[in-house]
Amino acid sequence: MQGAPYLVSYPGMIKLVLGDITVQKVDAIVNAANSGLLGGGGVDGAIHDAAGPGLLEECRTLGGCETGGAKATSGYGLPAKWVFHAVGPIWKGGGHREDELLASCYQRCLALAVEKDARSVAFPAISTGIYRFPVGRAAAIAVREVKAFLQGHPDREVLFVCFDKGTLAAYQTLL
Ligand code: ADP
Repeated sequence: MQGAPYLVSYPGMIKLVLGDITVQKVDAIVNAANSGLLGGGGVDGAIHDAAGPGLLEECRTLGGCETGGAKATSGYGLPAKWVFHAVGPIWKGGGHREDELLASCYQRCLALAVEKDARSVAFPAISTGIYRFPVGRAAAIAVREVKAFLQGHPDREVLFVCFDKGTLAAYQTLL
């Protein structure tokens, strides 16, 4: 289900991909983790399965992460050199700072990309699975934060990796 990416040249580059984030050949992939950082379902489980046990071992040393934050580990068996573990908000109707906390995840991951000199970063649609954040609303926040970042970092490349066609359509509408 790996389609040809849909490209948007902004300053920098945004790529929209339908597929599995674990196979992306980028410097860093983002994990939609939970606050324990000890693995879970969805994309978190897929990333841990593909990376191998070393990833969980390193995650155990991190002491968890607050909602809206992100922490970096190595990529182990993944093609990516880094994994940025971001903890998105659980959707509770929109009145619990969900938008702000989701924006913070993108900002923290993009700051980690600068810190680690990751030139290309792939994001899943954080919080839109088990955490039930509405996809269109989450995609709008993701696109807004990434475009703002690329203005100041035109040498970078960001991929939005969509696992299903509904998510892809939400990003396509925005891009
Ligand atoms: P959250 O708990 O933050 O909602 P999920 O993992 O449940 O995290 O879902 C986040 C998004 O990641 C959803 O759009 C889901 O379909 C998607 N997803 C699940 N597996 C993968 C994968 N292997 N690659 C890319 N995206 C994935």
